[in-house]
Amino acid sequence: MIHPSLPSSSSSSFLDKVRARLAGGHFRMINEKLYTCTGKEALDYFNEDPELFNMYHTGYQEQMSHWPEQPVNTIIKWLKDRSSSLIVADFGCGDARLAKNVKNKVFSFDLVSNDPSVIACDMSNWQVPLDSSSVDVAVFCLSLMGTNYASYLQEAYKVLNPSGWLLIAEVKSRFDPKNGGADPNQFTRAVCEMGFTSELKDFSNKMFVLLYFKKKKSSEGREIEWPSSSLVQTPLTFTNYKF
Ligand code: SAH
Repeated sequence: MIHPSLPSSSSSSFLDKVRARLAGGHFRMINEKLYTCTGKEALDYFNEDPELFNMYHTGYQEQMSHWPEQPVNTIIKWLKDRSSSLIVADFGCGDARLAKNVKNKVFSFDLVSNDPSVIACDMSNWQVPLDSSSVDVAVFCLSLMGTNYASYLQEAYKVLNPSGWLLIAEVKSRFDPKNGGADPNQFTRAVCEMGFTSELKDFSNKMFVLLYFKKKKSSEGREIEWPSSSLVQTPLTFTNYKF
């Protein structure tokens, strides 16, 4: 029965809108949580209620459907243009779209595994079940989320072979210093100090930036100054589109 207080005509589309609003609200809440806690806290959060992970990804896909281009597809194309013998680690893989669309061997990691190909773990250092110097490409596609994001990059450094690639795609607003985002030059400098060289800085897309690096043969081992713990003070991510 249709509730009498609901508009009599097009009540199902009204309900759909209410549901979409609620889903949007949940997504934003979980998104903010992931940007303001550590990887370990995020792991505990989802372990307590794995349904939150599904809610997050439903909202994530909805947001992504409004982006003219998805960064994961740009990275898939980059891989397809290279040898399929390159071994890839996809950190924060979501639904493992990357692994499903390339011929390469891909190790997919995320906080929750909804697919047998995904390894559930927190990608902070020493948590990822990969040997040192065992992969050729480390991918972070919109996944440098925790306040301890630098330790995710340290993990990538550890598992990458010398001359291996580090591919980062991030939401553009996170690297917009005029609006509370991180300074991309400071970020790039910090990554280089870990032992990488900067190979590509692409700000041409409206929604995301691409920062690609290559691991050097040896690092200098200096103290590194990272931009503030969460790259950006107030998470601005995904605010451009509303449900
Ligand atoms: N890379 C995918 C999904 C991006 S959403 C794509 O481009 O489609 C970001 C993902 O990073 C989420 O699934 C989230 O759970 C994951 N993530 C965030 N912090 C993480 C952590 N500490 N360890 C593992 N995965 C993490």
